[in-house]
Amino acid sequence: MLTSTNRLIDDALNYTNISKELAHRIKVPNATYSINFGVRLNDKLHTFNGWRCVHSDHMEPVKGGIRFDIDSNLEEVEGLAALMTYKNAIIEVPYGGSKGALKINPNDWSEDELEKITRRFAQELIERDMINPARNVPAPDMGTSSREMAWIADEYKRMHPADINSLACVTGKPVGKGGISGREEATGRGVQFIIREFFRNKEDFKLANFKGGLKGKKIAIQGFGNVGFHIAKFLQEEDDCIIEAILEFNGAIRNNNGINVSEAHDFFRQNNTFHGFSGGEFINDGNSLLKEKFDILIPAAKENVINIENASEIKSNLIVEAANGPVTYEADKILNKNGIIIIPDIMANAGGVAVSYFEWVRNLRHIRFGRLEKRRNLNQIQTLIHSIEAMTGKSMPEEFKQVLNDGINEIDLIRSGLDDMMIEAYQKVKIIQKESNIGDLRTAAFKAALEKIAVSYETIGL
Ligand code: NAD
Repeated sequence: MLTSTNRLIDDALNYTNISKELAHRIKVPNATYSINFGVRLNDKLHTFNGWRCVHSDHMEPVKGGIRFDIDSNLEEVEGLAALMTYKNAIIEVPYGGSKGALKINPNDWSEDELEKITRRFAQELIERDMINPARNVPAPDMGTSSREMAWIADEYKRMHPADINSLACVTGKPVGKGGISGREEATGRGVQFIIREFFRNKEDFKLANFKGGLKGKKIAIQGFGNVGFHIAKFLQEEDDCIIEAILEFNGAIRNNNGINVSEAHDFFRQNNTFHGFSGGEFINDGNSLLKEKFDILIPAAKENVINIENASEIKSNLIVEAANGPVTYEADKILNKNGIIIIPDIMANAGGVAVSYFEWVRNLRHIRFGRLEKRRNLNQIQTLIHSIEAMTGKSMPEEFKQVLNDGINEIDLIRSGLDDMMIEAYQKVKIIQKESNIGDLRTAAFKAALEKIAVSYETIGL
């Protein structure tokens, strides 16, 4: 995966003035720590293998998720860490890039066992500052969630009881344990915001051969975990899209009239398969649907799923990379040649790290967003309502009063900040694409990121 990313980077470097030497320095990972550790479970000693890669610490802390996946390996972790470096640069969060993985299948272990394994893994990383509020701040990724982040934060606190900022050692924690509302939905929400921005951009919209707006667009999503579920839910409930197909590792469901996302979600959580779900046709070889025609195809599961084997058969107008690295280098070239537009991962799924940034800042501030100004704003709104009523001699309709009197909650601020970051990232990449006459969004996005990182290295004399 790192090789694939570096080939994409080489293409983008052709559009920059970055020297060969500096480009090499940016591309290679700083350091990767490989760990083997033992945990005694049910009187048997098990040895686990994991990694944490710091790809670039041109800014600290470095940031990137920890995944639990049996297929993980060192090369994948380094590739994913590299993507974090570029992603963080594009959305302008003050972080370098990092990533971690533990080579396990979480489904093989009970919750108690997983807690012991996670805590031991965390100890190994904390001891070496690979988890630290000022140095390296993980978040959830495939196979991990707020539960694992809470265990990690607790372990850090035990090892650093006097660190007042200990909660900021990891993001994506549960709300009530230092987490922030909106983090769990953030990556999916960010994908929704960037798709909306795409549809506001007339030029891209035409290039993708779309007619009409986002409403009614037919969508296929691969991966129905945290990211895939939230994308499906928001696009269906708030944008009136038709979720036509959902692809999982063990089969897909398809319904031309649209799948009820909440029902499908409940069914999949209970049964770990779509087999037997009455809201659509079950298809055994789910991933064969990748080659069917949809308006928007959203890979939200794993890397390398669109590759040299299937790329030339992809027919959807737009691919939105919610997963990290779902399209290989060779596939990217084929899709571009075939006129299929791609919103690349480093833009599309940046919502998770954006809201992680808000959570980290909130943990360091020790006060929730909006706390200081909420009452004052409400008093001002009350005064405004009274003045309007006094001046007009009429009372304001209750429904408007209600909305105004609700004031701004933290979740409103989080969504507003996220929306702004996604829109800004998209618009910035579009300007670079136009100015440099670049054919695709990915190369333009990498150019934007590389130039930002290069400045950071140059200012420290490299
Ligand atoms: P998750 O573990 O919650 O969900 C992944 C889903 O994909 C699972 O339901 C799994 O069964 C399914 N899946 C696995 N292999 C599959 C296959 N071959 N075909 C179809 N489905 C398959 O993970 P997630 O957090 O939703 O992450 C998904 C992707 O999004 C990953 O690439 C991750 O790196 C990326 N991502 C996640 C976040 C985040 O905040 N969680 C942020 C940015 C990017």
